[in-house]
Amino acid sequence: MSYRAPVQDLMFAIRDLAGLDEVATLPGFEDAGCETAQAVLDEAARFNEEVVAPLNWEGDKFPSSFHDGHVTTTPGFKQAFRQFAEGGWQGLQHPAAFGGQGLPKTIGFACTEILNSANLSFALCPLLTDGAIEALLTAGSPDQQQAYIPKMVAGEWTGTMNLTEPQAGSDLAAVRTRAEPQPDGSYRIFGTKIFITYGEHDMADNIVHLVLARVAGAPEGVKGISLFIVPKVLADGTRNDVHCVSIEHKLGIKASPTAVLQYGDGTAASLPGGAPGAVGYLVGQENQGLAYMFVMMNAARYAVGVQGIAVAERAYQKAVAYARDRVQGRSVDGSTPPGGGIVHHPDVRRMLMTMRALTEGCRAMAAVAAAAYDAAHAHPDADARAQNQAFYEFLVPLVKGYSTETSLEVASLAVQVHGGMGFIEETGVAQYYRDARILTIYEGTTAIQANDLVGRKTTRDGGALARAVAARIEATEGELVAQGGAAARAMAARLAAARQAFLDAVGFMVERGKADPGAAYAGSVPYLMLAGNLVAGWQMARALRVAEQRLAAGEDEAFMRAKVATARFYADHILPRTGALRDAVVDGAESIAAMPLEAF
Ligand SMILES: Cc1cc2nc3c(=O)[nH]c(=O)nc-3n(C[C@H](O)[C@H](O)[C@H](O)COP(=O)(O)OP(=O)(O)OC[C@H]3O[C@@H](n4cnc5c(N)ncnc54)[C@H](O)[C@@H]3O)c2cc1C
Repeated sequence: MSYRAPVQDLMFAIRDLAGLDEVATLPGFEDAGCETAQAVLDEAARFNEEVVAPLNWEGDKFPSSFHDGHVTTTPGFKQAFRQFAEGGWQGLQHPAAFGGQGLPKTIGFACTEILNSANLSFALCPLLTDGAIEALLTAGSPDQQQAYIPKMVAGEWTGTMNLTEPQAGSDLAAVRTRAEPQPDGSYRIFGTKIFITYGEHDMADNIVHLVLARVAGAPEGVKGISLFIVPKVLADGTRNDVHCVSIEHKLGIKASPTAVLQYGDGTAASLPGGAPGAVGYLVGQENQGLAYMFVMMNAARYAVGVQGIAVAERAYQKAVAYARDRVQGRSVDGSTPPGGGIVHHPDVRRMLMTMRALTEGCRAMAAVAAAAYDAAHAHPDADARAQNQAFYEFLVPLVKGYSTETSLEVASLAVQVHGGMGFIEETGVAQYYRDARILTIYEGTTAIQANDLVGRKTTRDGGALARAVAARIEATEGELVAQGGAAARAMAARLAAARQAFLDAVGFMVERGKADPGAAYAGSVPYLMLAGNLVAGWQMARALRVAEQRLAAGEDEAFMRAKVATARFYADHILPRTGALRDAVVDGAESIAAMPLEAF
């Protein structure tokens, strides 16, 4: 078996850290307690280990291919996607009214991690379909919801997200695709979209493209962007005027087709009236498209963060297996038994612990974010909904930015643990490294996440939300001290130092940002890494506390001891990075600006 789902750790994250029991008290989630979660995760583990994971390596060797406007996915993908759909996995988190299972994100996130560990390329298709469903649930008309959501929930149709154009990447204000209103209320869409994940494929009967475009005469910039549904095949069976022109050859996630889509080149002459232009249907109001698309983007940003955790977990598992097997030298203290593996070397253990601590910390952070999302949507009290929504929105750039940046570190360490064999494709670990490389780029680069964290989530309210999060961290420190014991006290001290580093950086962003935004944004990515490190460390601190209590009660001894050790490692090796990040934010802006542009 190439991958084993970490069901016990996922259950720990969602039960003990995210508080699944509390989520299950929310209206609509009454049946989603720990028993349900365990059953769903066990089944997700079985399906993905047996069906989806074995196709991961295949996808790297036999990527999706393009011929004459059609895309053929990796052999096995189509059948696996059928099984995925028939198993009801696409509908896991979506409302029962549309054929879904209506489970909370707190459980759904764990299944997303397992699916992505099994196969990042395969998982992208459901990931984007989830986002399209969420966008239509928020902004689609009742007719649009009925026409598209049940088919997507059933996995018969899939969804895409069409933002990017050659001149419009991070800057969506530059979108040029145009939409021409038609007498019947529909629109005709013209333009080129690039980098569209699963923009064309052979795994479903229809593809529902959600497309950003400008209606003629719309205001310049982001205020003039509207959102359209453009199905590949129209309701009467007509092939719409949207065509895949090519797919990209990539560094990683090779099985996931990345399409160039041409809208309205007139190749579909059978369209009503024989006129060119892809038939599109406006979602919500004209010029509000970016706000609706943000629903899809936020869902996808969170999910891409989970992709980071997923690839990190798989890379870690592979590194552990290799470190046990590979025999090379004796450890300096002579503790390596004859035939013992490199796992006995202290530095190899350091690498494995770094990988494990980063992965578990990010997993815990994502689980807590998922529970906040559920409360933000389902809590009966409006204030509680608002507070959870604000907390979730603060966490999204951390889940996306920090978890994906650390996934690169983890995947790189996995290569390092393998030595020279890590650099050789046949070992398989190089694929994780290459696959992970996209995660800090798509769905908004780390810089774009960091800009969001600084602008919308920190300085806009004068640092109030960031300081409220810090206050919750301080409360955890108090609980650790009250619990007593060397590990808890040491963890509390490290957490306090990291929290202070964060507060210094928040103060800098808020104060300096007013007069000199360039200086604040010069430190935006270090600030994001600091905040992510701290919040993941905070969850590891909470994990340590729970694990010590469980140990005292004699529960799951091996697992709880490992959790305490991993949390201690995070405290000693990962949390101290926040000090350096603080200095880069607070003292580093001048040296970024000091180099004249012509000197580069
Ligand atoms: C495999 C793959 C799949 C993709 N899937 C999709 C998809 O399904 N749908 C879709 O619409 N798009 C998709 N994309 C596009 C992806 O979201 C963009 O590539 C990404 O948002 C970055 O845009 P860009 O490539 O134009 O880079 P640019 O925007 O040109 O960025 C280049 C560099 O400049 C930096 N930069 C740019 N602006 C700023 C700023 N304001 N502040 C600080 N730094 C900045 C960036 O951080 C980056 O380092 C995909 C891309 C790839 C490669």
